[in-house]
Amino acid sequence: MDDVIVIGGSFAGLAAALQLGRTRRKAIVLDTGLPRNRFAAHSHGLLGHDNRPPAEILELAHAQLAQYPSVRFVHGHAVRASGAIDDFTVALDSGEVLSARRLLLSYGRTDHFPDMPGFAECWGNTVVPCPYCHGYEIAGEHWGLLYHSPMSLHMPPLYNHWTDKITLFTDGHELPDDDRQSLQARGVQLVDGKVSAIRHDGGKLSSVVLEDGSAIELHTLFAHPRSTPSSDLHETLGVTMAASPVGEIVEVNERFQTSLPGVYAAGDLANPMSSLAVATHAGAMAGIFAQQSLIV
Ligand SMILES: Cc1cc2nc3c(=O)[nH]c(=O)nc-3n(C[C@H](O)[C@H](O)[C@H](O)COP(=O)(O)OP(=O)(O)OC[C@H]3O[C@@H](n4cnc5c(N)ncnc54)[C@H](O)[C@@H]3O)c2cc1C
Repeated sequence: MDDVIVIGGSFAGLAAALQLGRTRRKAIVLDTGLPRNRFAAHSHGLLGHDNRPPAEILELAHAQLAQYPSVRFVHGHAVRASGAIDDFTVALDSGEVLSARRLLLSYGRTDHFPDMPGFAECWGNTVVPCPYCHGYEIAGEHWGLLYHSPMSLHMPPLYNHWTDKITLFTDGHELPDDDRQSLQARGVQLVDGKVSAIRHDGGKLSSVVLEDGSAIELHTLFAHPRSTPSSDLHETLGVTMAASPVGEIVEVNERFQTSLPGVYAAGDLANPMSSLAVATHAGAMAGIFAQQSLIV
């Protein structure tokens, strides 16, 4: 039996695996190779890796982890997880069944793109979610924001750190008058009407098209598609969930432990702040706390 099975071997999962390898724990990392930021050409804000392609950061991590013989990587899809502390079982879609004393869930979240032509093609590069990740390079330019929920109204004041040219596409949502007034007082241009398509050239956004046929020229659109956990293993395990601004996340305590003893969680699955720095920190700490819990 292994010490820990890590389900999801991207930024959080590999950070956990590094700690487990360095403490000579037997760990298996399962991964399907679909990190959330795989659409982005470059990643920003992770110390030592700023402006690197996400896949390159993960490749470097894999190369370094290869030095730790107690850590095994399996390219595989975990489809079932069950058991209790000291005796967990994880089944893969290949039919292989693995067992370990601890589980670490780091399978992230999946973004569900709206049914809007052009959105998917531009996602990650010119239709983007996060100003901390993408803002610096386009500071001072004209930014668009696609309304998704009342949370969107908090974005323009944040975006003002980078630019004062902001257009909010209400996408057919009614905004309260006082919100409209305070946005307009900030210089935010409001465009009403439903967005019907994103016009682009090979993923380079050129304009946002409205249902009435009009188009607003623009090169960057911020958007926050609905996201859900990338697997339902936390449901079958029965761990407690918590509400968050991005939807339900796995609830963890300060030791990254879920409500089910022996099960840890880290990364976007357990934190609404989607960031490599946050995910690698959480993964490393979850790995350390899982390892410490094995000390007799
Ligand atoms: C377009 C975009 C750009 C971004 N740019 C930046 C940026 O520049 N800087 C920054 O700090 N953050 C950025 N982020 C946020 C960053 O991508 C996430 O915070 C980070 O990927 C979270 O890491 P994670 O390990 O929790 O999840 P992920 O990286 O999503 O990894 C989850 C892993 O689990 C695997 N998996 C899922 N289900 C299973 C299963 N059942 N069995 C086995 N494996 C499974 C997946 O294949 C995946 O490899 C960006 C996000 C997006 C969407």
